[in-house]
Amino acid sequence: MYGPGDVRVEERAAPRLVEPTDAIIRVSAACVCGSDLWPYRGIEEMQWPAPMGHEYAGIVEEVGDEVTTVEPGQFVVGSFWATDNTCEICRAGYHSACVDRVPMGALGAQADRLRVPLADGTLVATPDIPPDDLVASLLSASDVLGTGWFGAVAAEAGPGKTVAVVGDGAVGLLAVLAAEQLGAERIIAMSRHASRQRLAREFGATDIVEQRGDAGVAAIKELTNGLGAHSVVEAVGTQESMMQAIHATRPGGHVGFVGVAHGVALDGMDLFWSLAHVHGGPAPVRRFLPELIDLIWNRQIDPGKVFDLELPLDEAATGYRAMDQRDAIKVLLRP
Ligand SMILES: [Zn+2]
Repeated sequence: MYGPGDVRVEERAAPRLVEPTDAIIRVSAACVCGSDLWPYRGIEEMQWPAPMGHEYAGIVEEVGDEVTTVEPGQFVVGSFWATDNTCEICRAGYHSACVDRVPMGALGAQADRLRVPLADGTLVATPDIPPDDLVASLLSASDVLGTGWFGAVAAEAGPGKTVAVVGDGAVGLLAVLAAEQLGAERIIAMSRHASRQRLAREFGATDIVEQRGDAGVAAIKELTNGLGAHSVVEAVGTQESMMQAIHATRPGGHVGFVGVAHGVALDGMDLFWSLAHVHGGPAPVRRFLPELIDLIWNRQIDPGKVFDLELPLDEAATGYRAMDQRDAIKVLLRP
């Protein structure tokens, strides 16, 4: 990305092993993230030009001398943070704050080849080379599914719970899928777009709320005996969506926020009286990868459905435009 709205596909130096813990992968599929739209829209400053992309799945081509858990020829999925998977923070399940973390976005996964640092702690191999129809779902585990999953886990979605999801982007839709998998009793998707509502229902939503802001909160309360939802996933990252999430949560309930918060300010008294647990941040996707790959491999979930536009990598600029204008939920790029 050369600046807001300016995406170009060009030749860069081929990645090579730098550290003995690195792997080089041939990317089978990459994609455009909702978070890539913040710099695209000029809301987030970057050092231009910036390599883009942090979601990836592909085949290992080469590994450094110290890599022991993956080998050339294997199909792998990794998180959008490269992590050691051994430090205290990783062992507690919070890989996205790993003491050795490296942001994959800085390396640029929207590419045909990619260097993955800390390969042992970052990459998870699938049991075999996947059939082509599983690649999109496996790619989704790299961020968007893992992030929606973390949102649902942070919101403590589970049996007997009513879960509301604020945001109908790919992460919000996959938080619906996660809530369903985690056994939620009732799942309320907040969306005003017919195609996204349909996908939310396919993923397990039992109710749809079209209103936003205070009207959206009132609609959630109406569906929950005036109490609010037990669990609310916030998957947008704006002031309105955050307040909608906190106010739609019942006292004692849990908010899981995974939208990258831009310009969000919380009022202390508002938070004080909410009696809500508020937990979120960049998803520790690596924690969930083995479980998510297993569910996908056994065809128990089909998160790849969020990709409603597939383009060759050369047409990445078109993909960004489609997501920016909400013509596409999520764009898959094939190198
Ligand atoms: Zn770590």
